[in-house]
Amino acid sequence: MRYIDEQNDQDLKDAIAATRLTNKYAGCGPIAIISHFDFLARYAGYISIMSNPSDLYQQTALSTKVLETIDVIEGGELGTYAAYVNMYNGIESLLSYYNLATLTFNEETQDEEIVTETSPIILQQGIGYDATRFNQIKESIDNHMPVIGMIDCWETNGNRYIGHYFNIFAYEYVEITCSSGDYEEVFLQVNCNWGSSSNRFVECEFLENNSNFCKFIFFTEQHFHAYNYRYVSASLLNHYSYCTCGDSITESHSISPITNTCIECGYRLRDDTIIPVQSKPDDKE
Ligand SMILES: [Zn+2]
Ligand SMILES: [Zn+2]
Repeated sequence: MRYIDEQNDQDLKDAIAATRLTNKYAGCGPIAIISHFDFLARYAGYISIMSNPSDLYQQTALSTKVLETIDVIEGGELGTYAAYVNMYNGIESLLSYYNLATLTFNEETQDEEIVTETSPIILQQGIGYDATRFNQIKESIDNHMPVIGMIDCWETNGNRYIGHYFNIFAYEYVEITCSSGDYEEVFLQVNCNWGSSSNRFVECEFLENNSNFCKFIFFTEQHFHAYNYRYVSASLLNHYSYCTCGDSITESHSISPITNTCIECGYRLRDDTIIPVQSKPDDKE
């Protein structure tokens, strides 16, 4: 995913100049959101965010919109702080602005609010870090969707991720060779969102050691079947219509009166019989 350098990336510099009167920082929270929405546009196909993610004008429009939407406390030279609730609510409002309105689930109150049944993205909070949470993060990454995380605490204890938002977008199991026995360690790849340093691999320790203060924002894509991906003839009367996910339904042939051929699966009607005009490997199904 795109790593945003707020000091050098032109869209961020322009957006900060347009929206921040007193503070020259965008802040790690808004930057994490810009990275995530850039990912949604660039890799997940949500063109309502940006139809051309490499266009500077569109990048600046997205960055400006995020900075306008997310309430931050401006701390002068110390940077900015965005409260988790403001991040979550701001993301909801951004998803709605880009016509990606959401189902929401509040983990603390156990409230679920259905905004629209056809929302492509479900937004979900995650409070605390444990093995279950790790699996949730892993599952999201396996589904090609990064996670926004933060450690909501001010006692830094030398951990630079405390009080900070980061994007988690990959994981890797690494064999560690050790005199007391080899073991496997899992590393997370994160966009750190501080200054201009690049993204990096970190051990999960940085979350484990602050598990009570960890907060996450999950984006889960909903899948709506569309049975128009491919068609396979099934019988004289029917064909199977497939969704990209592999699910299928049985539908009647759509015979064109001009060609006497099913316009979907390619079977041809002749003398009240349907015969195949082309054989596909998939026809064996
Ligand atoms: Zn499907
Ligand atoms: Zn057909």
